[in-house]
This record gives sequence, C-alpha cells and structure tokens, in this order.
Amino acid sequence: MSIERNPEAFKNAPINWVPAIVLLSTPLLAIILVPWYLWTHGVNPAIWTAFAIFMAWTGLSITAGYHRLWAHKAYEAHPIVKYFLLLGATLAVQSSAFDWCSGHRTHHRHVDDEYEDPYSARRGFWFSHMDWMLHKYPSGQYDYKNIPDLKKDKLLTLQHKYYGFWVVATNLVVVGIAGLITGDMLGTFLIAGLLRLVLTHHFTFFINSLCHMIGTRPYTDTNTARDNGVLAIFTWGEGYHNYHHYFQYDYRNGVKWWQYDPTKWFIAILSKIGLASDLKRVDNLTIKHAEVTMQFKRAQERIANGGEPSLDERLMAFKEHISTEYDEFTKTVEEWHALKARAIELKRAEFANRLQEADDKLKAQFAEVEAKILAHSERIEKAFLQLKGKTA
Ligand SMILES: [Zn+2]
Ligand SMILES: [Zn+2]
Repeated sequence: MSIERNPEAFKNAPINWVPAIVLLSTPLLAIILVPWYLWTHGVNPAIWTAFAIFMAWTGLSITAGYHRLWAHKAYEAHPIVKYFLLLGATLAVQSSAFDWCSGHRTHHRHVDDEYEDPYSARRGFWFSHMDWMLHKYPSGQYDYKNIPDLKKDKLLTLQHKYYGFWVVATNLVVVGIAGLITGDMLGTFLIAGLLRLVLTHHFTFFINSLCHMIGTRPYTDTNTARDNGVLAIFTWGEGYHNYHHYFQYDYRNGVKWWQYDPTKWFIAILSKIGLASDLKRVDNLTIKHAEVTMQFKRAQERIANGGEPSLDERLMAFKEHISTEYDEFTKTVEEWHALKARAIELKRAEFANRLQEADDKLKAQFAEVEAKILAHSERIEKAFLQLKGKTA
C-alpha cells in the first residue's frame, strides 16, 4: 500500500460513522448503566462469573487468535480452536479478521510512520488509541494485499463479508444464552456484554497507544514499542511489545520465565493437548544477542553524553571497559556466525547415523557461545554500576 503523504488528507478525513457511534456510545452507556444496575440490583456472583468467562474468552481470542495466529502465523491451530477464537474475536467487536490483521501487518511493516502506520504513535496518544478508527484516515484504508493467506480461508472470508450481521447475532445469541443460565438477562447484557466489551476494547487499544509510549526498550530503540509489565496484566501478556516488534513471529511476547504472558501459556497448553502445532520461537542466543547489542548502544550513548568533571575519571574507565568488552563481543558474535554456518553445512553433509553425534557437539558449542554472551552482558551491567559509583 502506498499512501500519498498529504497532511491535508489527514486533517480533512471524514468521520467513520459506524465505528465512531459504537466506540463513543458504549463507554458512555457503560458508565451510566453499570453503576445504576449495581445500585438497584446488587451484585450477583453468577453474572460476575459470566463476566470473567467472557473477558477471558474474548480477550484471548484477540491475542491468541487475531493477533498471534492470524496476523503473525506464530503457530498452527486445530479447526476447533479456530472456531472458538473466531467466535470470541467476533464477540469482541474489533472489526473483521481481514481488517484487523491487514491493519496490524501494516502497523508492523511501517511502524511509527505517520502516513503508513494506521495507528502511528507518532501522531499522539489519542490518535493511536482510538481516533484512527473514528475517522476515515488514508492510513486506515486497506487494500488487503498483505493478507493473501487469510483470503484463502473460507470462514474468515464469510466473517468479513457478513461482519455486521455476525457481530450483532453472536452478541445477542451468545450473551443471551449466558443470560438464560444466570437467570438475569439485563444484568448479563450490561456486565458480561457491555462492560466486558468496553474494557476489552480499551485494553487492546492500550497496546497501540501506551505500549508505544511508556516502558522499556531492551531489544531495539529503532521504534517506539515498549515492554510494559503492568500493561501485560490487562492485555493477556501483550505488554511486552518491544520484544514483539523485534521478533514478531514468536508465539510468545513475554519470553522470560517471570514475565506474565497468559496468551503464551494458553497456546502452549493447546499444543500439549494436540490442538496447536508449529509454535514458532526465537532461540535464546538470538534474543540475548539483541539485548547485549542494545546494552552496548546505551553504553556508547552514555559515553557520548559525557558527564560532570567529577565523573571524568570513572567515565574514562567505563569507556575503556566498554571498548575492550566490545572487541570481545565482536569475536563472540563472529564465532557464533561461524558456528551457524557450520551447523548448516554439517546437516547437509553428515551421514544420517552420525547426525546425532554432530548435533550434540554443535549444541555444546552453541551453549558455550550463549554463556559467553551472558558474561558480556553481566560485565556491561557491572561497568554501568561502577560508573554510577555503586560498587568499588
Ligand atoms: Zn505496535
Ligand atoms: Zn503484532
């Protein structure tokens, strides 16, 4: 997609009526009707259970479905899982899979570009959070050329074609069934329907707005995407957005064991019970390499920024440290590249019966390089601490 880089076209973009009405009226209705209902009807545990189930179902359908399965192809799913996720994503009212995924692939390809990224954070919080859907901006007009794989899917094509009908029907029927079970139709529609819809909307929107504004950038600073552990709590693990923008095909967003990424756990459980396969993951060495490269970049920036005269001596020592460390790191990376080339070569040439043996040897060598990269990382951290005067 190529867009005319014309600021006027953005200024004069017409209102996108249907999304504008839905996105502006639902929060307003929720703010008025939910407290009124709670005041007059009290708290019914059955309704809050339905609310929790719908939050999880529709939230995970966006993250594990629209996002990681369809937009990024980070894994393969059994048809049963696909039906479940597509129904949940339709209930979430975040446009058709075609629109969502086409826009999202463009977002990754042209991240931060004011004219091409449909929810560019460079246009500010309001634009990236919601406004991009309220007007017919040039960057929001998709030609679907970037989703040829999805266009082959009959179910997704049907959903796109009859999207409006699907949204209304699924929300009426599925939430209606929940209302029959809880025995309180009005309460179920207000809490498990309306309130859930509004919360799921804004939690997803936070990824495009806040997750491009607040947080850390451990893997790359070439775009605005941030890692934000607090947002991960509300977004089923999607808060680790800096990692995600760097390694978008990984089925995980939070790759460290301590990072909260329930979408990753959900996909991993599906794979354990045979309902998902071909889970794509970036190897630890590549991840660590990206992190250490960023650490060096930060160190260089720190050196370039200079310091107070009282810091001069420590800064000189830091510069010295970083320079030697960088030479060593370059050697380790060369070693790693040579090892990768050798691995490809070996796999091609070795006889089948010796493959295992060669594999074990390579694994040990890769582990050695990984340990070296970890040691580089620790030494840079130590050098930073010394610069701050925190250790002797
Ligand atoms: Zn993003
Ligand atoms: Zn993505």
